[in-house]
Amino acid sequence: MRGNFSTLSAELQQLKQQNLYRSRRLVDTPQGVHSQVDGVLKLNFCSNDYLGLANHPEVVRAFQAAASQWGVGSGSAHLVCGHTREHHALEEELADFTGRDRALLFSTGYMANTGIIAALVGRGDTVLEDRLNHASLLDGGLLSGARFRRYAHADSAHLQRTLLAGQGRQLIVTDGVFSMDGDCAPLSSLVIAAKAHDAWLMVDDAHGFGVLGATGAGVVECAGLSQQDVPVLVGTLGKAFGTSGAFVAGSELLIETLIQKARPYIYTTAMPAAIAAATRVSLRLLIAENWRRDKLAQLVQQFRQGATQLGLQLMPSLSPIQPIVVGSSQQALWMSEQLLQRGFLVSAIRPPTVPQGSARLRITFSAAHDASQVTQLLAALQQIQ
Ligand SMILES: *Cc1c(COP(=O)(O)O)cnc(C)c1O
Repeated sequence: MRGNFSTLSAELQQLKQQNLYRSRRLVDTPQGVHSQVDGVLKLNFCSNDYLGLANHPEVVRAFQAAASQWGVGSGSAHLVCGHTREHHALEEELADFTGRDRALLFSTGYMANTGIIAALVGRGDTVLEDRLNHASLLDGGLLSGARFRRYAHADSAHLQRTLLAGQGRQLIVTDGVFSMDGDCAPLSSLVIAAKAHDAWLMVDDAHGFGVLGATGAGVVECAGLSQQDVPVLVGTLGKAFGTSGAFVAGSELLIETLIQKARPYIYTTAMPAAIAAATRVSLRLLIAENWRRDKLAQLVQQFRQGATQLGLQLMPSLSPIQPIVVGSSQQALWMSEQLLQRGFLVSAIRPPTVPQGSARLRITFSAAHDASQVTQLLAALQQIQ
């Protein structure tokens, strides 16, 4: 019957039975190593605040000072009257940082990805995506109206075979560091495949920026790839940058095209200028404070050694994302609950975020952790094995 919500309740009931129901925990503290969750203090091992910048005093001060200068709301979209000098300066600094001609801000990474893909390809074109890409990239591909093809994870040979069949424009899309697995895309071979078939390559390095590369410029810095190699480079600001929003970096032609055509850019209010100002400070810290990357790498190494000794099955990840795949959603939830009781906040990641049968604990590290906290986590993992 129209207006009757009972079909929804059956659906929710089914999610509960499948251990796929999701609920939110109430947090009373800023991002940091210690989080008060549902009233109790826990050691946090699930935040994407990899460098510990989300509550850094200088970033917070910059935000407050800019709010005094610019107010809170930006009033309109960038194309109307919301594009302040603060946004513009951040775009120029992000272009410098990535070694690209220009950068363009978006309000969120989800919007950047859906907007960019649909602006670049449409009916008659083909979009080719790694099957483990972030949901925003997969949704962007589906929404674009282009022919949608997925290739096997990190499998550039499979991609090559799929490219042969393409017509029209071809856009290859991949995570830089895979968000739920922590491994890196095989970028050098993706670049070769793209060039061989005259395809464009788009890399979303939400989890590599700040963490990988000598100056924190992510997987393209690690692999030494230029704007010609990776013409569409996306980063998000809500992870290692510790603020909020996203950007795309590339050629003049790319950025002007997106300003004209990317609907989630055109039809949304600009991020607050104070967020842009805070991000300028976090960008400066992220580049200058190499010790944060070094410390993160040490913590990751300590964890991997300890976990291997415990016989835990790790993924081939050198990033701060260190998943432990357990298989069933029920088991992942149980382990997460056991860790919570022992004082550790670690999230259980279940389908459809990851493929069926690959539910996991997604453990993440931050430069704000110390070695003794990693030791405590390992001890708790040993207890619940
Ligand atoms: C988090 C994430 C996004 C979404 O970014 P938001 O700014 O949170 O919307 C996009 N891509 C990847 C790979 C991500 O991990």
